[in-house]
Amino acid sequence: MSTTQKTAFQQADSLAADLARAPRMLVIDGKLVPAASGRSFATFNPATGAEIAQVAHGESEDVARAVAAARRAFENPAWRRMSAVDRSNLLLNFADLIERDADQLAVLECMDNGKPVSMTRWVEIEGSIRTFRYYAGWPTKLGGETLPVSPRSGARILNYTTREPIGVAGLIVPWNYPMSMAAWKVAPALAAGCTVVLKPAEQTPLTALRLGELALEAGFPAGVVNVVTGFGEAGAALVEHPDVDKVAFTGSTEVGKLIVRAATGNLKKVSLELGGKSPQIVLADADIDAAAASIASGIFFNQGQTCTAGSRLYAHASIYDRLLAAIADQAAKLKIGNGLDPETTFGPLVSEEQWDRVSDYVRIGQEEGAELLIGGTRPADLASSLDKGFFFAPTILAGAAPSMRVVREEIFGPVLSALSWTDPEDLVRQANDSDFGLSAGIWTNDIKSAHRLADAVRAGTVWINCFNMVDNATPFGGFKQSGWGREHGRQGVELYTETKSVWVNLS
Ligand code: NDP
Repeated sequence: MSTTQKTAFQQADSLAADLARAPRMLVIDGKLVPAASGRSFATFNPATGAEIAQVAHGESEDVARAVAAARRAFENPAWRRMSAVDRSNLLLNFADLIERDADQLAVLECMDNGKPVSMTRWVEIEGSIRTFRYYAGWPTKLGGETLPVSPRSGARILNYTTREPIGVAGLIVPWNYPMSMAAWKVAPALAAGCTVVLKPAEQTPLTALRLGELALEAGFPAGVVNVVTGFGEAGAALVEHPDVDKVAFTGSTEVGKLIVRAATGNLKKVSLELGGKSPQIVLADADIDAAAASIASGIFFNQGQTCTAGSRLYAHASIYDRLLAAIADQAAKLKIGNGLDPETTFGPLVSEEQWDRVSDYVRIGQEEGAELLIGGTRPADLASSLDKGFFFAPTILAGAAPSMRVVREEIFGPVLSALSWTDPEDLVRQANDSDFGLSAGIWTNDIKSAHRLADAVRAGTVWINCFNMVDNATPFGGFKQSGWGREHGRQGVELYTETKSVWVNLS
């Protein structure tokens, strides 16, 4: 065992001892509080199946307390009238504290979600720090404009617009990227001047609670950042609450639709980042080795539990076999195991439920006629300490067809469904034949083909000769049933604002 390896395991041991002492508490109105019912629920390590902590079981009463605190904080001049520079500084403080605790947070996320610590460190923690620093730049830039109105009366009229914070924002996030999804919502909401109630997924509540604690330490006034852990009912209570002005959600398309229906009570503004079934399109002239490495990473990264996962492969018939073999070679290089080992590049799925779901899809794909090329079950040769972990091997289903469920539905696991094509017109039709439109990858060395395909695919993000590039500066979101609105960049912060138009008679 290397020194770094010891450190991650040792940190996990000391965190586990600390977590075992008492249930983790909700963050409401600037304080750590138990759930009103006094109840808690267990969160588990997906690599071992062992319980790691009890967490306060927030329900509608707790959501109501949190929303009331967020409303008071929103009306409080200490926040409402805080200068833009001071708001920026608080966001920078927040980022600095995440950076201070980065090692511990990376291990905590690895324990709660299962993903390798190298990835929690890079994607979740570094990504969140960058998100807070990026949005710290926005309070001082968010403004309206003066518009040249032309009143018929000839009166001297001034018109200007302002961008106002929308109010109390309910933020509901999933388990696949727990901390970064929270940061993607909390940071722009605070930059806009909103107050927030964050509801993390039941499988991964721990880093969200730490974020709530760090917000207090950073100096945000009481009630500006509240965190309520619990189950879907807590999320539903937040969406239904009449004093919540906006809901931002990342998760399944099914729950996204429920949220839209529930938000109609007070016509909350809703933004949604939902599922995907992203095509990876490979032309005959592509660099096969580069494409294979990136396609493997595009589907196997985070064990396939990524909304943008490139889960439908459309390879030109002339290179189909060679490409599949190269992707399988890449899969064989993955080091599967406990995410606390710094060598590990592929961890377990998040839960038994998710394991069963992925396994069912692989069975369904084979029943529909696809051929299991690799994987399809629990990987062999795992350490006995991982016997109860939810590990699922990287999987390729070859010979898939457009009508198959494994080509049409989001599996959310490490399963690539591979199809071949020869007719470019039919390729575009097949790539767009999906309820989803989150992202697409295109692999070719011909610039015209690349741009033609980028123009033709219906997706919120198109990657050409690359995949899964995401940056705080550039909008992220989906066409069709992949969502409403765009996170990141100006559009991301404007999701949390309303425009006010002011008319002044100067005559
Ligand atoms: P969900 O969409 O159910 O969960 C996402 C979040 O929504 C969680 O915080 C959840 O709470 C909360 N929630 C659940 N029901 C409601 C509701 N009625 N109102 C408000 N909030 C609610 O995802 P699952 O965890 O059930 O995963 C199932 C499938 O969803 C996956 O297999 C995958 O296909 C897809 N998914 C897609 C994601 C994406 O990024 N596109 C992310 C996660 C899942 P709680 O966890 O406590 O139930």
